[in-house]
Amino acid sequence: MALTCRLRITLKILKILNLEDSENALKKKKLLFEAGFEFKDCFSRADILFPDKNKWDIIEVKSGTQVKDINIHDVSFQKYVYENKGIKIGKCFLMHLNNEYIRKGELDIEKLFIKEDITKEVEEHTNGIKERIDEMFKIINSEKSPKVSIGNQCKDPYECPVCHCWDSLPENHVFCLYRGGKLSCELYDNGVEAIKDIPDNIKLNDKQDIQRDCEIHKKVHVDKNEVKQFLKKLEYPLHYLDFETFSTAIPMFDGLKPYSNVPFQFSLHVIRKEGNKPEHYEFLYGGNGDPRKEFILALKKVLGDSGSVIAYNQSFETGRLKELGEYFPEHKKWVEGVLIRIIDLLVPFREFSYYNPKQHGSASIKKVLPALTGKSYEGMDIGEGGTASVEFFNTTYNNKGDKKRIRESLLKYCCLDTEGMVWIVDKLREIVK
Ligand code: SF4
Repeated sequence: MALTCRLRITLKILKILNLEDSENALKKKKLLFEAGFEFKDCFSRADILFPDKNKWDIIEVKSGTQVKDINIHDVSFQKYVYENKGIKIGKCFLMHLNNEYIRKGELDIEKLFIKEDITKEVEEHTNGIKERIDEMFKIINSEKSPKVSIGNQCKDPYECPVCHCWDSLPENHVFCLYRGGKLSCELYDNGVEAIKDIPDNIKLNDKQDIQRDCEIHKKVHVDKNEVKQFLKKLEYPLHYLDFETFSTAIPMFDGLKPYSNVPFQFSLHVIRKEGNKPEHYEFLYGGNGDPRKEFILALKKVLGDSGSVIAYNQSFETGRLKELGEYFPEHKKWVEGVLIRIIDLLVPFREFSYYNPKQHGSASIKKVLPALTGKSYEGMDIGEGGTASVEFFNTTYNNKGDKKRIRESLLKYCCLDTEGMVWIVDKLREIVK
């Protein structure tokens, strides 16, 4: 009922703002932005209606970099509503960002966007749309919620806001199975909720098998040999390195594509010799322009030219370093020297050489650090990369927020990422001693 109410109130507001204006504007046969029309309680507002002879083309603009299934559903719905209001629709397009575009000087809007003809796909999706809408209204107006089992649809294509359906699941449920996908859903649909209850006859891969074994015997799994092999690769001086970045849909600086990651901060812990205390170095961009030059110069000063560079999920740091090397050819050789020194601390966890049920099937540092060392990111003002990036961006380019406090939190957060790696390696060494 609450949903129906909200829907009606929203419709009413939108109607007042938009419906009348749209009807009037339509008669003028001019390009229309966000023209709203309603048909039998269905309200639609395409981004652009483009007049073409006696028809109109729909152009939907998205910030993504490709056409997704959900976009086709979206435009099919718009077409259905418009045509039922007597507006003849010609072609349908999806305009999205071009991820091959690299900024050089002024933005080239023509190249920044790609306009894809999706008329055929929309036509195909329009078949049966009336029945699908009827079904949705039946659910919206129903007193009882439909009986739908939780599954992948809870997160894809969007995170469901009614996430309490998951609350009743046991701690290490079947959706925590490493790369569980379809198997997790099948197990759940067959009444198996906990990993420990997965029957023996179900074929699991080696990593999932370790998870089940740890659950049944309430134990931590360690393959000492594999962990030792990993630790052997670390060469002093050890450099524990982590980057923070931000990204924008529209590239802000030269050499960037839509959504390129721009590094603005790093933390580095260096242990020169076995038994030495870690030394800490850090950089956080303080200007309001392009941080990349200061970033690479600061990094060059402290990273040295020998010893392992340890990152967690190294593809991220490797990717940023390669991009910096491409954009600053004068530093390319140095970057190449760093790349061959990088060792990924994720590996022993991704390979399940160590697995603790407290990780809940994840090898991310946010799960591994507390499971292995008891330390965590809890209680920090900034406790994950997404927030770090937003806070930095807002204080740096939008002049929003308490800059001093946010900078302190950013430094604290990034420092914990590399300090955490030091603790993880120390702990692994202790375990295999
Ligand atoms: S979380 Fe959302 S999508 Fe998943 S079952 Fe519950 S209501 Fe449905």
